[in-house]
Amino acid sequence: MRNIFIAGSTGSIGKNALNVIAGYPDKLSAKAIAAGHFTDELKEQVLLFKPSYCVLSTKAESNKAKESFKNIKGVKTKFTFGEEGFREVVLKGDLEIVLNAISGSSGLMLSYMSLAAGKDLALANKESMVMAGDILNKTAKSFNAKIIPVDSEHSALFQCLRCGAKSDVKKLILTASGGPFYNKDKADFKNITVDMALNHPKWKMGKKITIDSSTLANKGLEIIEACYLFNIDEKQVDVLIHPQAAVHSMVEFNDGSIMAQMGAADMKGPIGYALSYPRRFKGLMKPINLAEIGRLDFFAPDNEKFPFLNLARYAIKTGKSMPAVFCVANEFFVNSFLEGKISFNKIAVNVDKVMQSHKLFNLNAIEDVIEAKNQAESLSKQVR
Ligand code: NDP
Ligand code: MG
Repeated sequence: MRNIFIAGSTGSIGKNALNVIAGYPDKLSAKAIAAGHFTDELKEQVLLFKPSYCVLSTKAESNKAKESFKNIKGVKTKFTFGEEGFREVVLKGDLEIVLNAISGSSGLMLSYMSLAAGKDLALANKESMVMAGDILNKTAKSFNAKIIPVDSEHSALFQCLRCGAKSDVKKLILTASGGPFYNKDKADFKNITVDMALNHPKWKMGKKITIDSSTLANKGLEIIEACYLFNIDEKQVDVLIHPQAAVHSMVEFNDGSIMAQMGAADMKGPIGYALSYPRRFKGLMKPINLAEIGRLDFFAPDNEKFPFLNLARYAIKTGKSMPAVFCVANEFFVNSFLEGKISFNKIAVNVDKVMQSHKLFNLNAIEDVIEAKNQAESLSKQVR
């Protein structure tokens, strides 16, 4: 039995993860869950999975949860909140794996605390790896914990990399569906509305990552995530647009062989692999039918139309605090776009401005990452 902490349990990845757990009750148990807010959905999850802990983002939300369960007998769940709540769960929760499916930079501390407590980390929250890749890798090494990617491309790379030695890898090829605007004229980008950007053709996901997929900032974050996860140079990470989303990513080896991982566009695949690794769960997903798909297309990305790819490359090449600033500024302006304060094409323009005005510093400890986050937020507020 593997005891799991599902953080972000009411989100798109979190709900999928609970479905996987429910499908393998003799192998997996949701020992702890976490969400930002106490909702009816979270209440249902507590009643169904009976976790030992449920962590909310604030004291007020955790008090709401306690109040709601006051008269319900047989539920022994302890409701806690914030970073102290996370710390208690990772230290005392009797866990094997933490699945971090919190959205955005709020996921940073849980990734760090899980590894520092020696727990394996199934990582959906790419933002924490982008912000603090070196520190998370060092922490994992010091406390003998593994980081297992849940992002579908990185799960694919992780699986393909098992086919050869690290020293034989020539490059990693990230695939991208291209998002809803791949064929749209750049001149029309300024007229893209929030509703248009939230309508992703292939994946149903949380709002932040859906906007990131439409700007290709998501692919930019994934380039950086791949560099840190697999300790590889940015020049060895390519991107290919692949509209069918059947090949989830590829590894090219020095002999010219390319290994690809394929499957349905279904996050149960990478979630299940992270929770079963190094084995696999039987019947996890419906296999794809290649004859029905018929053809697989691949195109080089248009870097001029989607400036986020080059911005991300610039961030990881610059290193130090720049990837964290890139990540946090992007999150800030995605929120501004969602709130109707800026137009679609201003997201990248503004992130670029913040990166240009940032004064680089070394990230030696997690506190430095938090400082980079604070600085990026304050610079973002000054951008006009
Ligand atoms: P969602 O917005 O759907 O869900 C986010 C979850 O995190 C919600 O349960 C939310 O609760 C919770 N949450 C937010 N802040 C906190 C907090 N401070 N403490 C505890 N819980 C919190 O996001 P997704 O599931 O789409 O994405 C999650 C992560 O996985 C992101 O980093 C994303 O990039 C990554 N990812 C997602 C994929 C997908 O298919 N969705 C694919 C690959 C990666 P509440 O709503 O109550 O605030
Ligand atoms: Mg992805």
